[in-house]
Amino acid sequence: MKINVKAPAKINLSLDALYKRKDNYHELEMVMTTIDLADRLQLVLLEKDIIKLDVKAHFIPDDKRNLVYQAAALLKERFSVKQGVAITLDKSIPVAAGLAGGSSDAAAALKGLNQLWDLKLTLEELADLGAELGSDIPFCLYGGTALATGRGEIIEPLPMMPNCWIVLAKPSISVSTPGVYRDLRVGEVEHPNTAGMVQAIRDGSFEGICDNIGNVLETVTLAKHPEVKRIKEKMLEFGADTALMSGSGPTVFALVKQYSRAKRVYNGLRGFCEEVYLVRPWQEEK
Ligand code: ATP
Repeated sequence: MKINVKAPAKINLSLDALYKRKDNYHELEMVMTTIDLADRLQLVLLEKDIIKLDVKAHFIPDDKRNLVYQAAALLKERFSVKQGVAITLDKSIPVAAGLAGGSSDAAAALKGLNQLWDLKLTLEELADLGAELGSDIPFCLYGGTALATGRGEIIEPLPMMPNCWIVLAKPSISVSTPGVYRDLRVGEVEHPNTAGMVQAIRDGSFEGICDNIGNVLETVTLAKHPEVKRIKEKMLEFGADTALMSGSGPTVFALVKQYSRAKRVYNGLRGFCEEVYLVRPWQEEK
């Protein structure tokens, strides 16, 4: 038996950190949406009790350090699964980019293995298991557009994002997510209007989304890496309706209603950045 699963990247339409909790996590409010830039997983059932992982990408671990491996090991241990699996992971999502690539791979592995090993777990049960491995994994299991609260693991699904074009540009710098949260001063920065963003999504209003877009982590990453700020400015100059950093960065995305303008932003950015993508919102058919 063989199963293919798609693992789409996400962008943050809004990201707010309200305060630092006693457990050292920040209390978050994020509106996220999945896009049609995706990794692909193939899962093949093995009768032997082993997890084999083959990653088709450089510099990504293919052992216990990979979230896909951890997802398989967690299911095996929790449900005493005696069968095994051979997983091939084909990466297309840029790594350490703020696009939740690893989390989406883990979510796809949980979904696919639930089927392959016939575990009959509900989406909610998979999301609870996913949250043990990473805060973004529950959102990646739901996909589409959603409000994520808590440390990101509490999911409220929202209607699909109105159709538009999304240009992504990832500068070749690395950003440490824990470092960004450590340097964030929640009391001193302007916070995005999450309720406004949720309403804009409910109204299907592209203009409302552009008006309420915001990411509190920009205050840290843009100050430290002027090239990220420059990419954002360039996107707006080339005609983007809005532009924002995703997650803790360094990827910046532009939302553009018109294809001709999206193409202009895409072509313009290719002169500044090696990794540039032109994509659309994506939601799995339910
Ligand atoms: P987030 O938006 O959730 O912060 P990210 O896009 O910043 O995610 P990832 O691409 O998920 O970051 O990966 C960050 C690190 O996690 C990598 O340096 C890599 O070594 C490790 N990792 C573990 N599993 C995976 C995976 N399946 N794909 C990519 N990286 C992985």
